[in-house]
Amino acid sequence: MKSSTFRIVPLSTDVAEGARRLAKTGEPDHVIVVADSPSGYPCRHCLRWAKPGERVILFPYASIPPGHPYSETGPIFVHADPCERYAATGEYPADFRSGRVFRAYDTDYNMIDAEVANESDPEAVIEKLLQNPKTAFVDARSVTRGCFTFRIQRA
Ligand SMILES: [Zn+2]
Repeated sequence: MKSSTFRIVPLSTDVAEGARRLAKTGEPDHVIVVADSPSGYPCRHCLRWAKPGERVILFPYASIPPGHPYSETGPIFVHADPCERYAATGEYPADFRSGRVFRAYDTDYNMIDAEVANESDPEAVIEKLLQNPKTAFVDARSVTRGCFTFRIQRA
């Protein structure tokens, strides 16, 4: 088996734990929601869809930090109860093979390319974007709602 050329970077455990703390204190921008469909609530920490009935926290996350033309803060979910951070970082997360767009950024956080992947080939799109030497990282987002899902770096 060939080793992958990329590394999946899930949301950090620090950010997930911080969101859980703020949700408990009733911060108005950290809302607890009960998942009511099997593919509507992607957890950015374990990189799985929350199952119907599971509680998730909806909160704003700055995937591209402030101070840049492409700065972006948007809504994401994490499980409200502790979950295990996605660990198979050499493998594309099975739950998110469809419905993702991949955006390539340079070291200054400028978006330099973007491509929608078919279910069969997200790895090929990622490898193609990483072949550009100017690409510093690639962000996977929802193709329909635009929300940040996870980051990809070179292995
Ligand atoms: Zn989770």
